[in-house]
Amino acid sequence: MLRTHNAQSLNLNNKGQKVTVAGWVDRRRDHGGLIFIDLRDRSGLLQIVFNPETNKEAHELAGTLRSEFCIQVTGVISPRPEGTINEKLPTGEIELLAESLKILNTSETPPFYINEEVDVDENLRLKYRYLDMRRPTLKNNLIFRHKVVHLMRTFLDSEDFLEVETPILTKSTPEGARDYLVPSRLHEGTFYALPQSPQQMKQLLMCGGLERYYQVAKCFRDEDTRADRQPEFTQLDIEMSFVEPEDVMGMIERMLLKIMDTLRPDAKYPRHFPRIQYSEAMSKYGSDKPDLRFKMYITDISDIVKDSEFGVFKNTVANGGTVKGVVLPGCAGYSRAEQQELVELTKTYGSKGMVPLAYTSEMASIEELTPETVKSVATKYLSVDQLKEIAVRMGANPGDLVCLIADREDKALEYCGRFRQDMGLKLGLADPNEFAFAFVVDFPLFKWDEEGNRWDAVHHLFTAPFEEDIPLITMENAGKARSQTYDIVLNGFEIGGGGIRIHNAELQEKVLEVMGYPKDIAEDRFGHLIEAFKYGAPPHGGIAMGIDRVVMLLCGADSIREVIAFPKNQSAQDLLFNAPSTVEKQQIKDLHIKLIDD
Ligand code: ASP
Repeated sequence: MLRTHNAQSLNLNNKGQKVTVAGWVDRRRDHGGLIFIDLRDRSGLLQIVFNPETNKEAHELAGTLRSEFCIQVTGVISPRPEGTINEKLPTGEIELLAESLKILNTSETPPFYINEEVDVDENLRLKYRYLDMRRPTLKNNLIFRHKVVHLMRTFLDSEDFLEVETPILTKSTPEGARDYLVPSRLHEGTFYALPQSPQQMKQLLMCGGLERYYQVAKCFRDEDTRADRQPEFTQLDIEMSFVEPEDVMGMIERMLLKIMDTLRPDAKYPRHFPRIQYSEAMSKYGSDKPDLRFKMYITDISDIVKDSEFGVFKNTVANGGTVKGVVLPGCAGYSRAEQQELVELTKTYGSKGMVPLAYTSEMASIEELTPETVKSVATKYLSVDQLKEIAVRMGANPGDLVCLIADREDKALEYCGRFRQDMGLKLGLADPNEFAFAFVVDFPLFKWDEEGNRWDAVHHLFTAPFEEDIPLITMENAGKARSQTYDIVLNGFEIGGGGIRIHNAELQEKVLEVMGYPKDIAEDRFGHLIEAFKYGAPPHGGIAMGIDRVVMLLCGADSIREVIAFPKNQSAQDLLFNAPSTVEKQQIKDLHIKLIDD
């Protein structure tokens, strides 16, 4: 090795010891004849002092050092002189008195500061990712990610799982996104698809009798990128035989507790993750991934206002819609302009509007409410009794702002849910040090796809229905069937999801039929799996967790790009390699493909 120690492993115990370190010049300061270098390696920083009296040549060479030069230094560890101790630095009590210096490599001036946590344009950071990685934030995120994945692996190993790799060049396995396709050179006119997940493979591993499988799996989905999406991402993919939903959830809970206890013992998190019915999550939080760090429940007041004089409410309910809302605690004092901003915010979700009711602090209690103490355009159309009833039902107190949305039930829930989430964060109701894990369970099996005019799977088409709901799998009743599913959610994010699978060929065929798959297409795409079910396939189920998202949330990063070594940018481009890029005409020809412009 070109070094005897990592920089940050050194401390006062090494006093008087001769050591060799290697790393990068983080910063250089020249002081009264002495040259000070902060040497950085992966472990951290160490101060090195070059004294012309110790070695004139080394001191002279040190004078030529610039940021990011890669160097090797040998010297003796010494306590720092009194008054120069840096308590903020783990090696702040010592310094290395250099005896020799070797420049291992010089460096051009980097395009951004590496030794300062200044904001740098993300595209520049992506282009020079290898320099960005020398900065503490990204470096620490990658170290944290390694620890999370390592804990996942050791935990699963201790629970008797086998790590099995599955192919990348395969056939489309649908998760509801567009496939990335790879044209075949050897078989003209045919394509491989990159897996959107190893879903069918892991089910086939269960058919193969492996019983417990996991994989740190790359998944590819060709969809528009968002803050927490990437065209390729990593899942902890898991499948188990002979299980019920509670077995899978229990295992995930044990694994996440192990990770939290080891890496975030400072944080607040539950020892038992609540199991919340999908229907309850939707009606209370307007979301299937509720942020449970704060209450702010959605409340329905349709019955209170259905006979009121307020046209918007009355007509919406008369037309089969609902009136729902949330309470913003302590916000009754918002100005008109501030209230209007909230209305505009709900419009960005697609809502037609929102009605704020300010229950002012001019009353001591809701009991004393008069029309003058509730400020709103709606006040004069609502009776005192209705205003009181709304407050009591919603749990609003004097000083609170009630925000109401009238719409079709699913839309009112969605808009209230998004509003709840945005306002909960904005009002500081969500403790950033709290990790409110929960499982959302029993999703519907299908949802109606209005555009495609057909039933679509809510999770995916391999998901098992509740036993007693199997007779509901018909064109007329499919919407009522529940599935044996569970999502693991954390602070408003879905961090994983899975379910018990169908393992019976007839039932799988029935689901495909209700979803409108023509027989030949179903046979072509899923025939291999259905056939496998005919050879004693065991009951099985599993889950997949988004590793990027889990790491992002646990280390407090604000995008998954911050926890991926070489992510794509928001336009799905790799700025370091400049991919995607054009290729030689011959390569395209070899693939039997023609570009439209050719
Ligand atoms: N394959 C599913 C997904 O990627 C997860 C699962 O059902 O296990 O969402």
